[in-house]
Amino acid sequence: MKGAPGYRVNPCALEILLMGASPSIIDQLDLKKYGLKFVYPTTLISGLFEGGRRATFYKDLERTAVHFEQQFSKEDADGYRKMVSHITWALKAAMPYLMGPASRPSVGALWEILKTLLKSRKEVAAGARILMSPMDAMLHEYFKSEEIKIALGGFCLANFTSMSELGSGAYLSILTGAHEFGLRRPMGGSGQLTRAIAACVNDHGGDIRVSTPVEKIIVRNGRATGVALNTGEEISAKHVIAATDPLVLGNRLLDASDLPDTTHRQLKALDGTIAPINVFKIDLALRERPIFSGFGHEDADPEVLAALVLCQNMKDWYRSESACSAGTYDPGNMPLTTYFPSIFDRTVVPDGSEGETMYVYAVNTPYKFSDERTWESHSEKFVENCISTLETYAPGISSLIEDSFTTCPDQFEKRYNNYKGNYAQVGMASPTQLGPWRPIPDFANNKTPIDCLWNASAGSHPVPYLNGWAGRTVAGEVLKKMK
Ligand SMILES: Cc1cc2nc3c(=O)[nH]c(=O)nc-3n(C[C@H](O)[C@H](O)[C@H](O)COP(=O)(O)OP(=O)(O)OC[C@H]3O[C@@H](n4cnc5c(N)ncnc54)[C@H](O)[C@@H]3O)c2cc1C
Repeated sequence: MKGAPGYRVNPCALEILLMGASPSIIDQLDLKKYGLKFVYPTTLISGLFEGGRRATFYKDLERTAVHFEQQFSKEDADGYRKMVSHITWALKAAMPYLMGPASRPSVGALWEILKTLLKSRKEVAAGARILMSPMDAMLHEYFKSEEIKIALGGFCLANFTSMSELGSGAYLSILTGAHEFGLRRPMGGSGQLTRAIAACVNDHGGDIRVSTPVEKIIVRNGRATGVALNTGEEISAKHVIAATDPLVLGNRLLDASDLPDTTHRQLKALDGTIAPINVFKIDLALRERPIFSGFGHEDADPEVLAALVLCQNMKDWYRSESACSAGTYDPGNMPLTTYFPSIFDRTVVPDGSEGETMYVYAVNTPYKFSDERTWESHSEKFVENCISTLETYAPGISSLIEDSFTTCPDQFEKRYNNYKGNYAQVGMASPTQLGPWRPIPDFANNKTPIDCLWNASAGSHPVPYLNGWAGRTVAGEVLKKMK
């Protein structure tokens, strides 16, 4: 960070979850050869509650269940074991399908799915029900403890939808899936993953241009023939693969006349499904680790503090969600998710320092205000309010800040060219965003109505996170066509 030399932060993604599932692009591209190393956190998340009560989700499932039984109840411990098992089986069954083209699963993939169904049909069905249900309904069904519900739900939802939305249960797989499929972070920050992939591309003769915006995709006679840069330069290509939000691809990178009317109507309908719920991100460089004495956690192990959900109950969550939907927020009720990436990875702070990097994520942030406030005018105040919330948990934290870096919804949109700042790209919390319908029927299977134009972004795939699956599928399809 500029004002804190030696501190490195992740303005966007931090965790790698499903990329560990086999076959993984980490092995297929031999990314370790290009210097990629990982750290393996032992805790997934902790909810910190008044009076020193906490709900910690460890990477180890049994450790988590035993902790729940001691802190809360046997029903909660069993509920968690059951939920993890149900979701894990559903993911195992879906995995061969998710890893390939959506509407043309290979015979091998179908065989793998059938084997899983034969082994565990009831578990898969129970898991599928969780994934397609509203998240809060499932939390109420599986758990008695308010603390477990809000810590698990508050972390998983990570946003862009409501906890009561049909299909938001799918987000529960983010945490519960980590027990089976692993959790890792690139050592040195997420940029190390991109750096390793770039080194691999260069090593194989590829040429990468950064900070080179594409103005338009060139389409001639219904076929993509290259791209036009904002400098006026044109690059021709046999195939064009866009790794951008499908709404950016359809509405900004193509001329309206390039797409049929049906596609325009589908894109318009998709646009209408994007919830006004966004996020605000603050990265902090701290002189030392703060003490969470406000809620009685002054003796908490670093392992417990490494990732936190700071929201006391479901009622507060619902209140913040409805304020957000109304285009505002309550400074006295700001649910936060925080991480100290440096607790598990000391390479992101200066050598020998006692400092920490902190990742603060304000969920239920309005995309736009319903009054005269804009993000440009209000960001500073919003940061102040977030820090005040942090102060209630960790008094004195503001005096430890060396430097900060903020990203408001507008900046998510402008910096990364996401549509409406929605980095999850069209979201996944809807049964209509499954398989052959994702993101819209005309863009399904990573294709578009334009020949040789592909979409390999998170929004083109039912699981919109760092996994490499969409890119790998498209690479396979393009290679087949080029033979
Ligand atoms: C704050 C935050 C936290 C997250 N945490 C996690 C996490 O912990 N784990 C996880 O798995 N995922 C996480 N994600 C989500 C993850 O980052 C996305 O799902 C993933 O990056 C999407 O990959 P993508 O390649 O489809 O799109 P992107 O990563 O958005 O890449 C698209 C690229 O295209 C570029 N681009 C767009 N338009 C143009 C143009 N016209 N010309 C040239 N370039 C263009 C953009 O600049 C961008 O670099 C997080 C995201 C954010 C923002």
